[in-house]
Amino acid sequence: MYRFSINVFGCQMNVYDADRIRTSLTFKGWKETSEEEAEVILFVTCSIRDKAEQKVWSDLGRLASSRKDLVIAVVGCMAQRVGPLLLKRFPPVRFVCGPRSLGRLPAALEEVMATGKDIAIIDEDPTALDDLSEIPLARSNPWKAFITIAHGCDNFCTYCIVPHVRGRFVSRDPDDIFREVESLASDGVREITLIGQNVNTYGRDFDNGYVFSSLLKDVALIKGVKRLRYATSHPRDLTPDVVEVMAKYDNICPAINLPIQSGSDRILKAMNRGYTVEGYASILEMIRTSLPAAAVTSDLIVGFPGETLKDFQESLEVVGRFRFDLIHTAAFSPREGTPAARMDGQVGAAEKRRRLREINEIQAEISKEINRDHVGKSFTVLVDGSAPKGEGLLQGRTPSDKVVIFPGEPTLMGSFVTVRITGAGNWHLVGEQVRDRQENLRGR
Ligand code: SAM
Ligand code: SF4
Repeated sequence: MYRFSINVFGCQMNVYDADRIRTSLTFKGWKETSEEEAEVILFVTCSIRDKAEQKVWSDLGRLASSRKDLVIAVVGCMAQRVGPLLLKRFPPVRFVCGPRSLGRLPAALEEVMATGKDIAIIDEDPTALDDLSEIPLARSNPWKAFITIAHGCDNFCTYCIVPHVRGRFVSRDPDDIFREVESLASDGVREITLIGQNVNTYGRDFDNGYVFSSLLKDVALIKGVKRLRYATSHPRDLTPDVVEVMAKYDNICPAINLPIQSGSDRILKAMNRGYTVEGYASILEMIRTSLPAAAVTSDLIVGFPGETLKDFQESLEVVGRFRFDLIHTAAFSPREGTPAARMDGQVGAAEKRRRLREINEIQAEISKEINRDHVGKSFTVLVDGSAPKGEGLLQGRTPSDKVVIFPGEPTLMGSFVTVRITGAGNWHLVGEQVRDRQENLRGR
């Protein structure tokens, strides 16, 4: 019927939402095309930092001035945060839809196209949920898929916009998740990642004792699930039963993202994180004792309001002490409506950039050292695309989610191959294939 294209910004949840939107529109007979050929362009948006929103504003400006005939749909976190102002500011924006109302998107967008009227669906009740029911069968990546297992977040970290735009925490019914996993596995998906803002509180809203470790085990046992991952864990809620299940099932990848956010107890308290550095250390020790192969990555914010040089020094110290495989670092970005945006002691932009550079340099060295330990070892790699640079090079991921670049034929894409590591950079490994295609390896 209509030609559409989708631009995705932000986290894995947005990739999942975009894949389901793509699937539902394709089922309606719409056709996905390039941006140039599309009549409708959908933006699946992120509000986590100002930069994420700036990119959308600038793309909207570019399209609004060059393509008067276009219909633009803005969905997700930024649609919820900015709302109908988007319709006013850019005439081609004809549709906005909050992240908890995506179930209404296909029919409403069709109505916009048929009637020419503007529609704004803003989530009024943060506990209500009208979700898409489609399984993401039209995916951006044929071999990897995400599945949202819980919506929203109730933690209200003082810097974070997520609870304000994605609403209250609600776990999905396990039977729906199992059905989705089974369909994806029979559709050729090799790697499934269960996602949520805080997956470890999955089931907290059930009254039958079914918790995240129960779900993880049950999904691992589904036929055809070759690799299973999850993200993100809140350090306060990651319990030993989850790590025990990870250690027991070979197809659950030994990789955990455990965001620390700061190395200063004073700042952790101001962030409302609910743990101390030593509390975090004991969880990390539990992981590394029970699952020594686990790669642990983290998230860390520099320049939170009131962060002194001493607090920042403490963050540098935890980076050296905990030796994460990788850290997603970010300069604090004030988000309107969150408590931290109004706190005293805002750190200047130049100083935030300086702190970010300093911490990134230290982490780059650590990542490189950890990566160098991989040289000479062999790993099963899921090949998921061409390398971004270099003729004839493929890119894949080890079970611990390290990027591996190696020479190979494009026919290997989507399969598991064994790769011996011959070199290491800060953010990736390089290697060579040592055996032929291994379709049925379980992923380790
Ligand atoms: N739920 C996860 C947790 O508890 O850590 C994090 C999810 S959040 C979508 C992803 C990351 O964005 C956070 O870990 C944090 O480091 C970063 N982030 C969130 N709000 C931010 C802000 N206002 N400024 C800078 N970084 C922010
Ligand atoms: Fe944001 Fe905190 Fe919820 Fe993570 S746990 S999504 S950082 S409020």
